[in-house]
Amino acid sequence: MKIAVLKEGAGESRVAAIPETVKKFVGLGANVAVEQGAGEEASIRDADFESAGAKVGARTAVLKDADIILCVNGPEASALDGAKKGALLIGALDPVKRGEAIAGYAKSGIEALTMEWMPRITRAQSMDILSSQSNLAGYKAVVDAASTYGRAFPMMMTAAGTVSPAKVFVMGVGVAGLQAIATARRMGAQVSATDVRSATKEQILSLGAKPIFVEGVAGIEGEGQGGYASETSAEYQAAQAELVSGHIAKQDIVITTALIPGRPAPRLISDAQLATMRPGSVIVDLAAEAGGNVEGCVAGETVVRHGVSIVGAVQLARTLAADSSALFARNLANFLTAFWDKESGSLVLPDDDEIVVGVRLTRGGSVVHERLKSAQ
Ligand code: NAD
Repeated sequence: MKIAVLKEGAGESRVAAIPETVKKFVGLGANVAVEQGAGEEASIRDADFESAGAKVGARTAVLKDADIILCVNGPEASALDGAKKGALLIGALDPVKRGEAIAGYAKSGIEALTMEWMPRITRAQSMDILSSQSNLAGYKAVVDAASTYGRAFPMMMTAAGTVSPAKVFVMGVGVAGLQAIATARRMGAQVSATDVRSATKEQILSLGAKPIFVEGVAGIEGEGQGGYASETSAEYQAAQAELVSGHIAKQDIVITTALIPGRPAPRLISDAQLATMRPGSVIVDLAAEAGGNVEGCVAGETVVRHGVSIVGAVQLARTLAADSSALFARNLANFLTAFWDKESGSLVLPDDDEIVVGVRLTRGGSVVHERLKSAQ
């Protein structure tokens, strides 16, 4: 089997393989070809890939006869000219927004597998790119907040007086939120956090932060389907808005991460609530690309309203390209290894496997995923 690793397009700093995963593939008996310069922005030189056993070359040579093509973002179908029919394209293909590109893969006979749709089951945890990238984004959100904030995070008792600790409030305690709590705690902040899923209360406490929860109105008991949240009732939303109003005026930093799959991000902070915060406070909105949790948030920009900076964070994992590439690459390698048939030295994807059903978008010239077929 030949595995090709693409160089990503402009704006993407990550790469879908690292020397460690190349070695793993070579150990499985595969030939690995990496496009020239693919690892440059993630601090991996072509020579590092070569030492791990890969051939480095131009795209045409890399794609020629490849059975598996690894990428971070899905390229246009036309950028895969020369790939053979039946080749598997594996990456974060963004099928919801890139319906036409997915249809293009089907047309050119490419079998597309999208890693964002990996089912959230224990067996697939090590293949979950959403978790690995969100974890780094949660960390970076706090680091970015700290660098925008004009005060220090930890309490400092100095001869010139005391610096009080920053108060950090994390809204949405999924993978990114948990890492944001842990990072802010390590930096010496006083941390509180909230979520609609009751199961997160224990997790917040175990990280040494204070849970701030709506009492008396049911949110989502337990974990929610696949661990995800769904829309809450109007009554809950009103109670949550009141709770936030009471809490937010005393906060210096807010990190918002709340997402509901398939829906716009829930609005958690209104302009009126923002106005109660102290000037110089900072909000980092990790839901910016999904419409934002904060009123007035602009994706990719920092907006100042009522003296509060609202950072519309976009793709923060890209700003930690070496680490995010390593985790992404290992997610892909774990997927390939799990379905590698050692006897035949090839990838075998059983049709009835929950993981395969979850990630497979196209097959034999057609779009086959239920979620895409029902959207057509
Ligand atoms: P996400 O990115 O979809 O959402 C982030 C958080 O926002 C979630 O915790 C969600 O409950 C919360 N949220 C949504 N609406 C909200 C609102 N109105 N107010 C406050 N908070 C709100 O979530 P995620 O990071 O992908 O993780 C969700 C869960 O899935 C976590 O419990 C995680 O541990 C679990 N998970 C399981 C697996 C697995 O078993 N393989 C893998 C990854 C994640």
